[in-house]
Amino acid sequence: MLYASTRGNHGPLPAAEAIKLGIAPDGGLFVPTKRVMLSLEDIVAISSLSYQQRAIKILQPYLTDFSMDQIRSSVEKAYNSASFDHSDVAPLTELDTKLSVLELWHGPTCAFKDMALQILPHLLVKSMEKTGESAGILILVATSGDTGKAALEGFKDVPHTAIIVFYPEKGVSEVQKMQMVTQEGGNVGVYAVRGNFDDTQSGVKAIFGDTAMQQAVAGRDFKFSSANSINWGRLVPQIVYYFSAYADLLARGRVKPGEMVNFVVPTGNFGNILAGFYARQMGLPVHRLVCAANENNVLTDFITSGIYNRNRDFKRTISPSMDILISSNLERLLYEITGQDAVRVRQWMADLGDKGFYTVDDATLEQVQSLFWSDYADDAATMLSIKETYRRFGYVVDTHTAVGLHVYDRYRQSTGDERSTVVLSTASPFKFNASVARALLSEEQTAGRDEFALLQMLSDFSGLPVPSGLNGLAQRSVRHTTVVDRDKMPEAVMDFVEARK
Ligand SMILES: *Cc1c(COP(=O)(O)O)cnc(C)c1O
Repeated sequence: MLYASTRGNHGPLPAAEAIKLGIAPDGGLFVPTKRVMLSLEDIVAISSLSYQQRAIKILQPYLTDFSMDQIRSSVEKAYNSASFDHSDVAPLTELDTKLSVLELWHGPTCAFKDMALQILPHLLVKSMEKTGESAGILILVATSGDTGKAALEGFKDVPHTAIIVFYPEKGVSEVQKMQMVTQEGGNVGVYAVRGNFDDTQSGVKAIFGDTAMQQAVAGRDFKFSSANSINWGRLVPQIVYYFSAYADLLARGRVKPGEMVNFVVPTGNFGNILAGFYARQMGLPVHRLVCAANENNVLTDFITSGIYNRNRDFKRTISPSMDILISSNLERLLYEITGQDAVRVRQWMADLGDKGFYTVDDATLEQVQSLFWSDYADDAATMLSIKETYRRFGYVVDTHTAVGLHVYDRYRQSTGDERSTVVLSTASPFKFNASVARALLSEEQTAGRDEFALLQMLSDFSGLPVPSGLNGLAQRSVRHTTVVDRDKMPEAVMDFVEARK
């Protein structure tokens, strides 16, 4: 399998090169040049396999330049009982006969980013070996909260790699911040940026595109790469759990082979839901992909109108991992549904850069709407959704998953579609415990308590244990305290690199 850039000016090249580069040098994103197809028999056959075996089956056709052993060993290092606290890795929990929740947060950092970031470092190190790379890889990450910690955990002390994470100073929860600033490991840097996530992300993108910076770090024997969902190595492991969820529904007799299901995906950068699109392309029986947004509902507007317009106020919400106005991975979708038309993609991305918006043609919009449906939840609706989900099903969800469940209700009301539906649960309720506790407990119980006290209260209330990744967080020592302005991010990178060599 070879990969080419969505902007049409780089590739095709093998998976190892695409994963090592992260972003294509022409500013585009790498996409597979051929479609992988699974037959219904293949899909039925994986229903008797473990998550690890399912992962190998899905990854293999995308990583044809990797040996079977390399894929198997990457999968085994990523998805094991030392890292995941559930033997199914991504367990499917039934709320009722037609509605299930796919729990993607049993990894070390309690959010779905672990599903990809536990395996990416292994794929990346093997990609470096395969391409004869002698320089060390310097991973730069912009995070809205969850990617940063998941990438730090995935890359800490991995030989020949170093990682720098930038997070928006006021854009992450107390728990997320503590998870990052207490990070251990000899190859890690963590910096707060004065600004929001889009400022942080555009700062990182600017560094990647800056040849002077590339040369400066090359002088220190480092080469940049990305662990953001623009890297194909992050996307491909996410395709696995769509198949895995369907396989579980089959194994439980909840769907018949070939029966269509919907997936509801709480969405920010469009990475998670894009993996669902690829799963559908591969033959998974998916009716609709429901894109659930919060008040930063730029994607809902796009899916309903064909106009992507980031010229709007950035809102801070209680689902901060979805507080994003530039959904990078949408570029891959546009490329695929226009029949790989790099010229049109380049024009739309240029418009986005110059004017802050673009409008797709009617045929493209029709394509989008035949696959996707979208709505959003504001914070009040999100809180109500946490409460209602607990009242109806006795099930505790985090704020992002609650957005998904709210939008699922809207979808059913609006379309009457009764098909079996899987809502992707992207974080443990303990990760965003302050909002969850406030939704489920009384005002008197929660008033004046910090996130760490609420963690324990939520555990007592729900009878669920505090996940090990969050337990004792308040007592860990803070190791990273630097705050930088957006235009000082390159200096922070150079300081980090110089301190290391
Ligand atoms: C990252 C994240 C999302 C959004 O996922 P995208 O791939 O960026 O669309 C949703 N929920 C949580 C908890 C996340 O960490």
